[in-house]
Amino acid sequence: MKKIVERIALPAPAPGTSRELIVHRYGDKGARPKVYLHAALHADEHPGLLTLNHLIRLLDQSSDPLHGEIVLLPFANPVGMAQHLNGYLAGRYELSGGGNFNRNFPDLSEAVAEAIRGKLGADAAVNSALIRAAAEAAAAALPRENELQALRAALLGLSIGADYVLDVHCDLEALVHIFVSHHHRDLGDELGSQLAADVVLLEQEPGGSPFDEANAGLWWKLRERLGGDARVPNGCFATTLELRGQADVSDDMAAGDAMNIYRFLQRRGVIGGDPGKLPKARGKPTPLEGTDVLKAPVAGLVAYRKQLGDRVAKGEVVADIVDLAAADPTQARTPVISRADGVLFSRSIRKLLASGETVAKVAGGEKLAHRKAGNLLEA
Ligand SMILES: [Zn+2]
Repeated sequence: MKKIVERIALPAPAPGTSRELIVHRYGDKGARPKVYLHAALHADEHPGLLTLNHLIRLLDQSSDPLHGEIVLLPFANPVGMAQHLNGYLAGRYELSGGGNFNRNFPDLSEAVAEAIRGKLGADAAVNSALIRAAAEAAAAALPRENELQALRAALLGLSIGADYVLDVHCDLEALVHIFVSHHHRDLGDELGSQLAADVVLLEQEPGGSPFDEANAGLWWKLRERLGGDARVPNGCFATTLELRGQADVSDDMAAGDAMNIYRFLQRRGVIGGDPGKLPKARGKPTPLEGTDVLKAPVAGLVAYRKQLGDRVAKGEVVADIVDLAAADPTQARTPVISRADGVLFSRSIRKLLASGETVAKVAGGEKLAHRKAGNLLEA
C-alpha cells in the first residue's frame, strides 16, 4: 500500500529541544471507513509499539486493496518517552504536572453542537460528514499553548473524524483485554474475538475523559445536546486495547496481534481481501462495573496464590500481603479477597506494594455495588 509519512512538531518545552509526532497515512484523505491507530499514549507501555511496527510492515507490503483511510502513529507520546527518572521510564503521568496522559482529553460535543444545530437533514451520510467536519474544525481550534496541550490536540485532531479508533495500551502483567462502550457491544465482541481477548469490558460511564471516550463519546454526547436527535448515530467505535503486560514485548506476539488487527480492518471493510472465519470468542463481554480492582489493604510484599487466567470465586483469596516488619512471620499475612466471581486478568508487576496499591483485577459478570460509574478508571 502507498503511504505518506508526515511529521507534526510539538512546541519546544525548553530551548534546544524539540519533539515530533510521526504519522503514516494510507489511502486518500476522506476515504471511508477511516481508521486511526496509535500506541503507548502511556509511554511506559511498549507491546503496542512493536505491534504497530509490525502492522506498518504488513500495510506497506500488502497487495490487498485499501478502500478506506488509515492514519497510524507508531508512537503517541514522545513527551512521556523522554521522561527518564533515575533509571526508570515514568511514562504514565506528565512530570511537569499535566497528570495522567490518558485523561482529560477535551470534549468537543458542545462546539460541534453549536456548529451543526439546525443543519441536520434526512441523509445519514451527509449528517455524519457534517458532524465529522465540525469536530475536526473544533479540534483544530483547540489551544496549543504548551507541549502536552499540543500533543492532546494533535492526537484528537487526527482521530476525531475516524470511524474506528484503536488506542493501544498494556497493563502491568495481564491477559489481552479491551475496553469498549456498551453502545458498541457487537463491535467489541468482534474485535475481542479476532484478538483472542480473554476479557472484553463494557463501559457505561468510565469517567476521566480518556482518549477513547473523547472520540466515541462525542457522538452520544452530541445526541444528548441536541435533545436526543436520532439522526446523530454512534459514528465512531473507539477502544482501548490492552496488549497484555509491560514485559510482553516480543516479535511473535506483536506479529500475531498486528495480523489480527489487519484482519479486523478487513472485516470492517477498510481493507479488501478475506479475513477468514472469525475465531470463537474466549469469553462474554462483562460490565466494567463488574471488575473488582483489588487493592493492598496494608503495605508489604505481595505473594500471589492465583495466576493470570485463573477463575476466581467471590470470597476467594487471590494473594497475601506479607508484612516484613512482623515479629512472627506466621502472623504476618493479610489476605486479598476478590469480591467478584470471574477471571483474574491483571496483576501487579511490582511486588513491594504501598497500601491502597492495585494488586489484581478480576472481571466478573455482575455489577459490583462498590464500583461507582464515572470513577471506574484509576487515576
Ligand atoms: Zn495505558
